[in-house]
Amino acid sequence: MAMSTRCLLAFCALLLTPTAAHAELNVVATLPDLAALAEVVGGDDVEVTALASPNRDPHYIDPRPNLILPLNRADLLIVNGLELEIGWLPPLQVAARNGRIQTGGPGYFDASTVVQPMEVPTGKVDRAMGDIHPGGNPHFLYDARQARRVVGALAKHMARLDPQNAADYARRAAAFDAKLAETTRRHAERFAALPDEKRRVVTYHASLVYLFDWLDIEEMQTIEPRPGIPPTPGHTAQVLSTMKAHDIRLVVQESYFPRKTSETLARLVDGTVVVLPGGTRFDEGEGYLAHIDDLVGRLYAALSK
Ligand SMILES: [Zn+2]
Repeated sequence: MAMSTRCLLAFCALLLTPTAAHAELNVVATLPDLAALAEVVGGDDVEVTALASPNRDPHYIDPRPNLILPLNRADLLIVNGLELEIGWLPPLQVAARNGRIQTGGPGYFDASTVVQPMEVPTGKVDRAMGDIHPGGNPHFLYDARQARRVVGALAKHMARLDPQNAADYARRAAAFDAKLAETTRRHAERFAALPDEKRRVVTYHASLVYLFDWLDIEEMQTIEPRPGIPPTPGHTAQVLSTMKAHDIRLVVQESYFPRKTSETLARLVDGTVVVLPGGTRFDEGEGYLAHIDDLVGRLYAALSK
């Protein structure tokens, strides 16, 4: 289920209570994290749909036809950017026949344009390097510091599309920014108290670099030899020797990546695999802060053992 059930419920509520105020903006977000941020900033003034589920790898969402209707009606499309959605969003945008949400249109917001990208490749990028994105690593939504930038810019974008409610967007964004700032500080302080030898991990995909930058954790190696390229025996043997050399017992990965190699490596070093949620469970009513607290809490519990 990719479409927000909350969206459908709200639609029914409108039918039953004709006096209820209509949302001013129909918002579609590619990722559930972005949908959750949009809902906080937009409040009652927006109706938010998420295209991707947190249980699927966001690089590879199936562009099913049922995703076209919300895009056709959207006033605002929020994308992660840095080519994260390049494999599936462009055909949906074309099929939506909605000029507002085409790339560069008035209702197109690319969150990556307001963050500080990491891992921007310096040389020429070619396919042999795997799923390397020329603009940098696209997985910035794991970092509450980057989410603050997105929230601030999103409020301004919503205000441009719906000037009547500009003050409300700004007010909600400011209140949420204060919460994000507190979350940023609280988790960083907690992780700062961990000894150095507990801050080294191996990951499956290079998707946690922003999270680790925030919490000061060292990613020693990825199980994928290159982003998006499945593990090979030779590379896995290298990862194992790195783990042994640095006494690393944790493999961290999102729920949607295959676990076999991670589990094998963990077993060989008498360690554990920490499985992190790949996104906010927006369709189940979870908010971005609850998702971050959950994610960081799981990581901390494993590292502090
Ligand atoms: Zn990636």
